[in-house]
Amino acid sequence: MTRQTALSVAQEQLKLAVEKLELDPGIHKILKKPKRSLIVSVTIKMDDGTIGVFDGVRVQHWDVKGPFKGGIRYHPDLTIDDVTALAMWMTWKCAIADLPYGGAKGGICCNPKEMSQGELERLTRRYVSLIFEYLGPHRDIPAPDVYTNEQTMAWIMDTYSQLKGYSVPESVTGKPVEIGGSEGRVCATSLGLAFCAREAAKFLKLNMKNATVAVQGYGNVGYNAASIMHSLGCKVVAVSDSSGGIYCSDGIIPSAVYAHKKKTGSVVNHKNCANITNEELLQTKCDILIPAALQNQITKDNADKVKAKIVAEGANGPTTPEADKALHEKGTCLIPDILANSGGVTVSYFEWVQNLTREHWTLKEVNEKLENKITKSFYDVQKLSRKEESDMRTAALMLGVGRVAHAITTLGLWP
Ligand code: GLU
Repeated sequence: MTRQTALSVAQEQLKLAVEKLELDPGIHKILKKPKRSLIVSVTIKMDDGTIGVFDGVRVQHWDVKGPFKGGIRYHPDLTIDDVTALAMWMTWKCAIADLPYGGAKGGICCNPKEMSQGELERLTRRYVSLIFEYLGPHRDIPAPDVYTNEQTMAWIMDTYSQLKGYSVPESVTGKPVEIGGSEGRVCATSLGLAFCAREAAKFLKLNMKNATVAVQGYGNVGYNAASIMHSLGCKVVAVSDSSGGIYCSDGIIPSAVYAHKKKTGSVVNHKNCANITNEELLQTKCDILIPAALQNQITKDNADKVKAKIVAEGANGPTTPEADKALHEKGTCLIPDILANSGGVTVSYFEWVQNLTREHWTLKEVNEKLENKITKSFYDVQKLSRKEESDMRTAALMLGVGRVAHAITTLGLWP
């Protein structure tokens, strides 16, 4: 099977937007590369007394509209190229959501499943100390991503604060609520995704009640997406994680599958369900498919087998450009990652604003603001896609890249 790298996908997407917008080739040259990439060696003492050395990175793509913003990912297969692509996507994502941020992404190449809490804490703190000078509430604000969570963000906040000498909750988002986190941040990506799917369903005259849903990935985004869709009356017929998936035509109860995963380590072998592969999950007969795992899942090799009417991308970069084309040609409505999963960074922005103003908003306030903001972005993209007669990916890229290019042109180059 051919696998494109995330960076080549991101570069191809940028080229498409640049061509469509007829941008200056100089602007294209600027946007192709990150402004700054920090490569660090994260050295820690392991529990058994040996020394562990891990590759860490923070890629800061562009920050013309405000401080860098983006998650921190812990994954054994992480490469600097992947992180560069993910940072680039954050730049477009923040621009589409109209947030005063630039895009960044960071990560450490490690297997968190094989590490103790103590090791993960030392790893996180050491990593923060190595990139400390380039972080800060007005420089670069990290957040959770694959295999990092609220606890990781608490360690980041504490390390940053200790090095500063005073408490700086606005230095990181996705923290636990007790230390300045926002209500609704944990579910924000999935809730935003559900709002987008709901709007897309209106266009297709698809009733969300009893619509069938398949979700790839059962981490924070996948699990909460399954739960929210279930609470909206959809029937979640298939879910998966890195070990495989399950299918049940009557629909699963997301919280029961979550409890099963907590107990056994995976969603597979759940009662009354058939075990399926991740590949089969993508090909499940359903109305809404939510890829919420990793990049490069829907490719030219399997796009024609996707049966869903709506694909809502919870993950970053799950679909390659060739697959985009194939899906568009057969009439699948694809809500692209930089729109569909922007609820996470949107509520991160709300958290940062609350921290800067020393306020705390209610869950109702947060969710209403999220709904208004993401619904507006959805229709901004939808309108442009109608005007351009393009798919929503192209329109979203045009909107995001166009706004950033405009900001660069307005600011000019120094000196
Ligand atoms: N990691 C998330 C994303 O890919 C959230 C980023 C943030 O909240 O800054 O959008």
